Amino acid sequence: MATGHFSVNLVVKTASLSITGEEHIKQYSATAESGNTAIRKFCGNCGSPIMTVVAGPEESAFLKGGLFPSGSLPSPKQELFTKRAEKWEKPIDGAQWA
Ligand SMILES: [Zn+2]
Repeated sequence: MATGHFSVNLVVKTASLSITGEEHIKQYSATAESGNTAIRKFCGNCGSPIMTVVAGPEESAFLKGGLFPSGSLPSPKQELFTKRAEKWEKPIDGAQWA
């Protein structure tokens, strides 16, 4: 199953993360297109997505943009899965299409 068409994520190494309230987080593991395991973590109380952790030697967490206050996210540096972009989608200024 795929997620929504758009998702804004802040990507960080999981080693640099500190998480509190972890007892409220539930997760679902799936195999990503890359073949890596993707662990989707979400709020066990309301179902809101929190992050996707992609396993690997340099494990990364894709933190959902909705976790952060409006106006606090840096400008996007990269857009992923653009091969699935709709014809009407335009690149974001300053972001690389991958
Ligand atoms: Zn919640």
